[in-house]
Amino acid sequence: MYVKVAFFSFLKKLIFYYLYCRTQKHQCTIPMSTFLQTSIEFLKGVGPVKADMLKKELGIHTFSDLLTAYPYRYVDKTRFHRIMDLSNESGEVQLKGILRKLDVLGDGRKKRLVGRLRDETGVIELVWFRGIFWLQNKLEVGKQYVAFGKVNYFNSFLNIAHPEMEEVSEQNLKANLTFAPVYSSTDKLNNKGLDAKGRRSLMSLLLSKMSPADLPENLPEYLIEKMKLIGRHEAVNWIHFPKNQQQLDAATNRLKFEELFFLQMRLLQSKHRRKASIKGYVFSKVGDHFHKFYKERLAFELTGAQKRVVKEIRQDMGMGIQMNRLLQGDVGSGKTVTALLCILIALDNGFQTCLMAPTEILAQQHFVGISEEVDGMDITVAFLSGSIKGKKRKAILERLLEGEIDILIGTHALIEDWVEFKNLGLAITDEQHRFGVKQRASLWKKGKPLPPHILVMTATPIPRTLAMTLYGDLDVSVIDELPPGRKSITTTHRNENHRIRVFGFMKEEIAKGRQIYVVYPLIEESEKLDLKNLMEGYEAISREFPLPDYAISIVHGKMKAKDKEFEMQRFVKGETQIMVATTVIEVGVNVPNASVMVIESTDRFGLSQLHQLRGRVGRGADQSYCILMTDFKLSTDARERIATMVRTNNGFDIAEADLKLRGPGNMEGTQQSGMLNLHIADLGRDGEILRTARAIAQRILDKDAELTHPLNERLRNYMEAMGKKVRSWGRII
Ligand code: ADP
Ligand code: MG
Repeated sequence: MYVKVAFFSFLKKLIFYYLYCRTQKHQCTIPMSTFLQTSIEFLKGVGPVKADMLKKELGIHTFSDLLTAYPYRYVDKTRFHRIMDLSNESGEVQLKGILRKLDVLGDGRKKRLVGRLRDETGVIELVWFRGIFWLQNKLEVGKQYVAFGKVNYFNSFLNIAHPEMEEVSEQNLKANLTFAPVYSSTDKLNNKGLDAKGRRSLMSLLLSKMSPADLPENLPEYLIEKMKLIGRHEAVNWIHFPKNQQQLDAATNRLKFEELFFLQMRLLQSKHRRKASIKGYVFSKVGDHFHKFYKERLAFELTGAQKRVVKEIRQDMGMGIQMNRLLQGDVGSGKTVTALLCILIALDNGFQTCLMAPTEILAQQHFVGISEEVDGMDITVAFLSGSIKGKKRKAILERLLEGEIDILIGTHALIEDWVEFKNLGLAITDEQHRFGVKQRASLWKKGKPLPPHILVMTATPIPRTLAMTLYGDLDVSVIDELPPGRKSITTTHRNENHRIRVFGFMKEEIAKGRQIYVVYPLIEESEKLDLKNLMEGYEAISREFPLPDYAISIVHGKMKAKDKEFEMQRFVKGETQIMVATTVIEVGVNVPNASVMVIESTDRFGLSQLHQLRGRVGRGADQSYCILMTDFKLSTDARERIATMVRTNNGFDIAEADLKLRGPGNMEGTQQSGMLNLHIADLGRDGEILRTARAIAQRILDKDAELTHPLNERLRNYMEAMGKKVRSWGRII
């Protein structure tokens, strides 16, 4: 018997000892330098189960992840409020008082626990609907508590629902005088004790274990001084547990700067390295084609912006370095002719070019337009898309490889493996935001032996802050001027009550010889419904605008390419007065005689799409109109979008508004970019910091591209360490 007990006691000790060693081991064997890379499981109080949940729910794998999961807001517990001063506008308050009463009232679903907290100035009601039993046991009438929660106004009395309660002690009175961080959480985490309080204590434990050596300074002293920043270790501590607003501001500022600065350093350094290592064809001359076109063919004077951009591109293509350039310009700013001039420079230097557009219609239009422009200039232009098949395709491919085709215009088909050029010197993509990164990257491979120069054009202006980030390693040209004589487009918001008047207005415009677009949304999830709306709309319009006085075109995604083309052409030639369409006409279509754009269910379009659509009109000399039709009921967001459209025609302003409304991650073309996974900076709000950070990064790299100067040692070390961590920093095109 005795032996048995002794044995079990020994076994128990052994197990405890083993467990003790295990925890010790984790604490002792982790080398300091890798402290932050430690799995979150090994933080005291976490363990495998909670660790798993933190990984799954919040993507927190390591100490470092936990550290950079910054609070998304703070609750101000820097002072105690007086109950007397409270109002329904007080928001979240911290009170200190004696719990005077605690009763369970009502029953069933109305059952609630009601308490009263009294301080020297008054009394307020506290109420709980959940956890009643537990709270009843925990709270004690007559004791002093610190209560925290949001003040509500209920039945003409003030109360606080579900306040946090903590018994007053000397220690917590001090601890409570803080800005308490609030971390994003989920129900699952809350249930596992990782609620607000749980997360806070994890964080404070981690911070207490972390020494300044674990988080070495990564900015050089001269920069810290110049920017008046606080140190890195301090900033990380303060961002989680600031004592006051000043500390929070200082920490936020430092960390935002650091984040944006290193982002820009990486972008600019990769741009620099690319330029240093990737050679490009030298287009040294501006020759006959260019001059002939410029002097004899160009029907108008280029705008100042167009001239500047052509010059920028010409210089870029003449330096022996591969060009990677983004061309931004608002709808109708004349990017096509600018691109054509660059194509002619490539031709003059003996190279082929290609122009890729995202839709068949747009590619066709470029093909027809450019063919006409260079007609009689001894330039061969060809068209290629998925719909060109068999012998026709074969012939094109052969001639392309022989070098008989000078300009190849088409859709995604251009990047297929079977498309081979003799000597591709310049590859242009129009409306680049529609192409994926991969698709664009494959253009690089089409050039032999060197990659072609790359020009990507976007008609959706991108806010400067986003461009500096998404395209931060490209050179950017901006056409910020519209051709002269354009009248600004008058935009109005209308609903069903105005339908008859809108029809009347359309008739007046048609009587003046103008043409009209009526556009319906087409979103994949509800394709059927959309098609139904479109067809109903078409019928309604057909009734209102009957033959033989009026003719109507209709184009939608479900039609065959041939039929679409036929309908488009009827409209382009002026045989039809109204074009009823889905968003397939959004990009690039150019019919200068069209002066009215009616958009149905406007609320279902994003801002950039609306701006694109509106850009289809206002291309001629006539006053143009955009009519935004909606239902009566609209979300705040939709209202804001419509108000923006009515207020401004400027694509860059609209892009800024879009960025503010939707945030950087949701804007068109940004979804694939890991670069926007910022921890603390916000591209919509931190433009100023970003600009500064980029300018400084540029200056540093201009002088010391590989950061070998002793003063830049911290930068080099940190960038190298980061470089290893970031899996693919990838290039953008
Ligand atoms: P986007 O930039 O949207 O692609 P386009 O290249 O389609 O614009 O140009 C829109 C229209 O403006 C075209 O009809 C084009 O011929 C015309 N255009 C371009 N540049 C000028 C200019 N400098 N002066 C007058 N018209 C111009
Ligand atoms: Mg265009």
